[in-house]
Amino acid sequence: MDYIIATHNLKKRDEMQRILAPLGIRVLLAEEAGVELTDAEETGTTFEENAFIKAESGCRDSGMPCIADDSGIAVDYLGGAPGVYSARYSGGDDDANNKKLLRELDGVEDAERGAAYVSVACCVYPDGTKLIARGECRGFIGYEEIGTGGFGYDPLFFPVEYGGEKTMAQLTAEEKDAISHRGKSVRLLAKQIEEAKNDK
Ligand code: IMP
Repeated sequence: MDYIIATHNLKKRDEMQRILAPLGIRVLLAEEAGVELTDAEETGTTFEENAFIKAESGCRDSGMPCIADDSGIAVDYLGGAPGVYSARYSGGDDDANNKKLLRELDGVEDAERGAAYVSVACCVYPDGTKLIARGECRGFIGYEEIGTGGFGYDPLFFPVEYGGEKTMAQLTAEEKDAISHRGKSVRLLAKQIEEAKNDK
């Protein structure tokens, strides 16, 4: 069975395809499947709600099972912001978002710069079945952008697994997938998809 991915973020798509392919799950972009998806408005206040909104809308438009991820960064000092609004934090692009985050944390000490990346992956089937999985990755926010890999807030985010040595943007794709919020949520979702296959 083929699955559609509901995203315009090509970096996110690459990560999801990379994680799912070895698990035997083939995911297609709408264009590749010859269908057109309307832009679902992310009106939810949780990652779960928004992931479901995107997957449900993609499934309805395509008539195929649809997978979507809603993700973001929750900064402790900012009470969990920008959270579900991570993509829209500054009103600009990734670079503007990173600059705004650095400004908000100006003068904030190491001990208070903790943060978590969160990803919720959701799959909705045409028969209404809904599968959902959450992944988190703890780390802290640095003082300047370092590294060129990944996307979004990666040049600012030091995952705890690398002990402050490397930002997410300095990891290889495989290293990021092994510890990332999306790696965790998508692998958990894949397990549920595998189990649900027997019922389909
Ligand atoms: P979404 O497309 O509405 O789920 O927005 C996700 C946003 O969260 C992205 O635009 C990034 O700003 C941020 N984000 C999510 N996952 C990552 C990641 O793996 N690296 C860096 N930023 C991320």
